[in-house]
Amino acid sequence: MNEISVPRPNNLDAFWMPYTDNKSFKDKPRMLARAEGMSYFTPEGREILDGTAGLWCCNAGHGRREIVEAIQKQAAVMDFAPTFQMGHPIAFEAAARVAEMTPEGMDRVFFVNSGSEAADTALKIALAWHKARGDSQRVRLVGRERGYHGVGFGGMSVGGIGGNRKQFGAQLPYVDHLPHTHGVPGNLFSKGQPEHGAHLAETLENLVALHGDTIAAVIVEPLAGSTGVLVPPKGYLQKLREICTKHGILLIFDEVITGFGRIGANFGAERLGVTPDIMTMAKGLTNAAVPMGAVATSNEVYDTIVKGVPSGIELFHGYTYSGHPLAAAAAIATLELHRAEDLPGRSRAMEGYFEDAAHSMRDVPGVIDVRNMGLVAGIELAPRAGKPTARAMDVFKTCFDMGVLTRVTGDIVALSPPLIVERPHIDRLFGTLADAIRAVPA
Ligand code: PMP
Repeated sequence: MNEISVPRPNNLDAFWMPYTDNKSFKDKPRMLARAEGMSYFTPEGREILDGTAGLWCCNAGHGRREIVEAIQKQAAVMDFAPTFQMGHPIAFEAAARVAEMTPEGMDRVFFVNSGSEAADTALKIALAWHKARGDSQRVRLVGRERGYHGVGFGGMSVGGIGGNRKQFGAQLPYVDHLPHTHGVPGNLFSKGQPEHGAHLAETLENLVALHGDTIAAVIVEPLAGSTGVLVPPKGYLQKLREICTKHGILLIFDEVITGFGRIGANFGAERLGVTPDIMTMAKGLTNAAVPMGAVATSNEVYDTIVKGVPSGIELFHGYTYSGHPLAAAAAIATLELHRAEDLPGRSRAMEGYFEDAAHSMRDVPGVIDVRNMGLVAGIELAPRAGKPTARAMDVFKTCFDMGVLTRVTGDIVALSPPLIVERPHIDRLFGTLADAIRAVPA
């Protein structure tokens, strides 16, 4: 494979890159041209060890032949067919495969194309469920500070990222946020679930006291990834579940990152022992080879909505590409690999080694916290005063130059390698990260 060379593009102006400092990128472009196993390669053939599974999504590693062949085969058989009022066999098969992996009783699967679409779809299903039960006053949605649910208006509004309010202003009305669970005294350098902070879920009781029976749903990531690897305190999700059940509020887990083995089980719900009513997923579903997301609901949620509409379309929602044949083929091949190679089991088996490596960063000057679960770790750096870029961003760039891909949000460097990672990769990931932190000015 190494002989394949991909030329650098001549025109860097046309592509408006997402979530990117476009101006500085063009001064020093970082290009990835090829990927295989645990690694990316630049157009010049330089290897970059993938410490982030792309964007938390290539869980089975890159260039998996089984997935490539499934997509190629499907493209030749049928490129596209709609799923409005008609279907194609592999979309049904893909849904059945997903349903086999979701918690018991969550067997209905709605396909979308991304995590953002999954979040908005989940919120709309929650609203539709209450309407179907005649509870039309339940229109309020509750998210959490430092939550990330993608970029649609629904997901952005329930998400808890200040930058959205700053840049776009308008958000959905009737939205509240629970406090995030980060920074609770006594939790620094926790391994796995921190001891303290379960009480923060009780804020939901305050919202119920304030708004009565108008809250439709609460959405949280079981483990918040994009905003800095925030692992839920012990008992927190259980408490949230209890309060939701007590007050007739649907609980939505956004499992876009935590799904498909990332934290050592098929889903975060399983690992953390709490079953939501609705869950979203994307990324690892197709190993990111073709964009696809999904929303799984409890059978009860589905039955209520479907039976609530005696005839005609039950859920007035869908995407042209829901259940796209190429994505469905990629999903089936991915989930087969998942099963055959027991990727959640691998993630669980490697967790101890990964955890020790992550926590060895504690001795690196400037590291103020480390947190981890499964094959995700967040390394937090002391904030940098008076400089335009966060130190972590410079660490990311330095790591890239040193041949390791990391992910950065604010002052936090996150690592989430493909679940096929081996010990020498882990040594190299954290060794390079430590070198980069030492090399970058505080
Ligand atoms: N939800 C969560 C929890 C995510 O982590 C992400 C993406 N990182 C999204 C939703 C949005 O997914 P996408 O970028 O595919 O729209």
